[in-house]
Amino acid sequence: MNYRHAFHAGNFADVVKHAILARILEYLKRKDAPFRFIDTHAGAGRYDLTSPEARRSPEWRDGVQRVLTASPPPAVAALLEPYLRALGPLDASGVPAFYPGSPAVAQTLMRADDRIALCEAHPEEREKLVAALGHDSRLSIVGTDGYVALNAYLPPRERRGLVLIDPPFEAPDEPKRVEEALRRALRKWPIGVFLAWRPIREAAADAHVLNNLAALGLPAMLRIEIDVGPGPAGAQGQRPLSRAGLLVVNPPHTLIDEARVLLPWLAGVMGRDGRGASVCAWLTPPR
Ligand code: SAM
Repeated sequence: MNYRHAFHAGNFADVVKHAILARILEYLKRKDAPFRFIDTHAGAGRYDLTSPEARRSPEWRDGVQRVLTASPPPAVAALLEPYLRALGPLDASGVPAFYPGSPAVAQTLMRADDRIALCEAHPEEREKLVAALGHDSRLSIVGTDGYVALNAYLPPRERRGLVLIDPPFEAPDEPKRVEEALRRALRKWPIGVFLAWRPIREAAADAHVLNNLAALGLPAMLRIEIDVGPGPAGAQGQRPLSRAGLLVVNPPHTLIDEARVLLPWLAGVMGRDGRGASVCAWLTPPR
């Protein structure tokens, strides 16, 4: 487990993931009944953008910083508002003091009766997570493998809520593990909302992942993807990530229209060399 999210916090993929997460949380708040947010791979919770990791890999400058310095049209600004609220106060140079990971986005946006269950397997990251979120009676934080914990958590007592599956994709079998986790989880909780993040490195391999997921016969699945165009090659010729995707199972009925407003704008603002593209389409439509 070498992955540290601090190297990537606030990059283009985080912006899309957290802006969509915020939209789903806002939708769940439309009903008074409490709900639960389960984050199977929670990370460190909050990220200092002046840390050695963020200095070595300042991906946030082409992500959240570009969003903060752009002027969105009113329709986009309204949809981004909960995400921007979760960013918290900005410093004198217009940068957030800390970039909020998914647990901190949930902590800001969720209500007093809602519940937040977080799994983080790496001991140091978990320690940071506990410190970042402070005492909050809505929270439970465990060090169990997120896939194992998910199985135990479902269905949640509230019978409403959202699961974020956001592993590091270090292991080659991670797409298969996500597929298996979704299959098992939806058998236990067919009405849950699930948000699964993935990097898209090769189009053919990604099409294979999507075909496998479509073949599971799960409920409605929405594809949300961003492509910011190729970045400069590193010393060993390796290119930075340029595409990332979210699959939303049982999305709120409002989400596809919201994503079709948000994503093209985000892709335009964060696209490298002014190039950016997005996808918002059903993988499997609602029945
Ligand atoms: N969800 C976070 C966010 O949006 O801010 C980012 C999570 S980061 C991509 C993935 C995290 O999963 C890392 O902190 C890593 O230590 C943790 N991790 C790796 N394997 C895990 C496992 N089997 N169960 C739980 N956490 C795991």
